[in-house]
Amino acid sequence: MKNYPLNVEAPKSFSYVKRNIPNVTVEQRERALKSTHYNEFAFPAGMLTVDMLSDSGTTAMTDVQWSAMFLGDESYGRNKGYYVLMDAFRDVFERGDDQKRAINLVRTDCQDIDKMMDELYLCEYEGGLFNGGAAQMERPNTFIMPQGRAAESVLFAMVSKILGERHPGKNFTIPSNGHFDTTEGNIKQMGSTPRNCFDKQLLWEVPEGGVYEKNPFKGNMDTAKLEALIEEVGPENVPLVYTTITNNTVCGQPVSMANIRESSRIAHKYGIPFMLDAARWAENCYFIKVNEAGYEDKSIFAIAKELFSYCDGFTASLKKDGHANMGGILAFRDKGLFWKNFSDFDAEGNVVTDVGILLKVKQISSYGNDSYGGMSGRDIMALAAGLYECGRVEYLKERVDQCEYLAQGFYKNGVKGVVLPAGGHGVYINMDEFFDGKRGHDSFAGAGFSLELIRRYGIRVSELGDFSMEYDLKTSEQQKEVCNVVRFAVNRSQLSREHLDYVIAAVTELYKDRQSIPNMRITLGHKLPMRHFHAFLEPYEAEE
Ligand SMILES: *Cc1c(COP(=O)(O)O)cnc(C)c1O
Repeated sequence: MKNYPLNVEAPKSFSYVKRNIPNVTVEQRERALKSTHYNEFAFPAGMLTVDMLSDSGTTAMTDVQWSAMFLGDESYGRNKGYYVLMDAFRDVFERGDDQKRAINLVRTDCQDIDKMMDELYLCEYEGGLFNGGAAQMERPNTFIMPQGRAAESVLFAMVSKILGERHPGKNFTIPSNGHFDTTEGNIKQMGSTPRNCFDKQLLWEVPEGGVYEKNPFKGNMDTAKLEALIEEVGPENVPLVYTTITNNTVCGQPVSMANIRESSRIAHKYGIPFMLDAARWAENCYFIKVNEAGYEDKSIFAIAKELFSYCDGFTASLKKDGHANMGGILAFRDKGLFWKNFSDFDAEGNVVTDVGILLKVKQISSYGNDSYGGMSGRDIMALAAGLYECGRVEYLKERVDQCEYLAQGFYKNGVKGVVLPAGGHGVYINMDEFFDGKRGHDSFAGAGFSLELIRRYGIRVSELGDFSMEYDLKTSEQQKEVCNVVRFAVNRSQLSREHLDYVIAAVTELYKDRQSIPNMRITLGHKLPMRHFHAFLEPYEAEE
């Protein structure tokens, strides 16, 4: 094949819808900050220059997804998209390279009803993570949800009800490589204890020059810690083991296939179901492909097939990974360990109460019937199309490279505390290092940093450290598991190099002037659950 090599890469996409960014003055932003009590979630997005608060639901969709929305079916019972989405789940999580792409029947407006019945409407599936047809009615195991936390709250409400009836008043421990804040919140609300088993030392290490040859998978579960924790509290007190891919709380770092396999083995050794929080499964599979021996020639879907074969169930936000702007899922393996541990059986082994039925009742009472789970027919179609889109290697490379570009930009300009390598969906800065260890845990200087970035430059990031992770309200054991970081989420397919260069320049200037960044005190909502969503804050001058 003939080739004319260049030292830059050929672009992989372009955009043809544009949104203008308004001109906003520092004084206008100051006024908005004051009247929203320095709660960055309450700051009006329409006044920002670059909004990096979250990559959740902020994806710029492809033309293929937008066109799929027109095919959305808003029927109340068993809309077309329901079948398409359920089969898209099977395609991307279970079928590897052997996909059916039933979505094309709808895209081509198939009028052959026998074909539609045989290939879409009346297909029976069982034994995997996504039952279909009568099996899904008899033993429901897949639940469409409007977003990730909805899946978590349905799951944990049921788990807590079942455990509460079996062992009234008992406290349970749920370990993870890193629970997301809403997962932690949901576990705490059921009266249980979330624990994070990762290696913080490893997370902060950076080689000379800031570049790793291969990604070291810093998001991995510390499996020795996991096993020690299970032994310490007793396996009967650990109802689930969780792994988050990629590890959002641990700076968006990926988890290796070997580590997932080992965590699953340990959980199963003790008879505990192994669950995934799979919001960024595609990015995690990309990291495995590029960095883990034996996966370089496999497709993202083939890697996903192996990865999901190790779990007994999963929850996921489907607003990440370029899926779509809305969506979520809860699923567990048909007749698998999760089902066995949480269903009730009589002496002959017949099912008395199926956990899937309980979950479905909760789903219906919270989000509507199982055909749409709180989503519109349009959103369902955009999501089904997006599930395929986010398995494209070119797309994944483009966005993971953007994150690394941003992190290296900070690093090369001497900004201290940049977590390297960059995560899959964003860049994190360790505030303890950024402030040279001079600000205490009660200073909430990370919140000060993010608010100062809004005030001076109109850039919004999210504090995910001492303030959001409630350092001051935790036990000393749990405090060791808090990473005092802020996150620069990189929205998918939305930002250009100009945006990233602006952010690099702004953070570099703010770093040089870091002594003048204020500390923050909480003036309202100190002890509210997930306080960063509602607390009022106030800046005060730091003494260094
Ligand atoms: C975003 C996220 C969630 C919660 O999902 P929502 O769709 O925002 O409700 C849970 N876990 C992880 C790892 C996430 O990134």
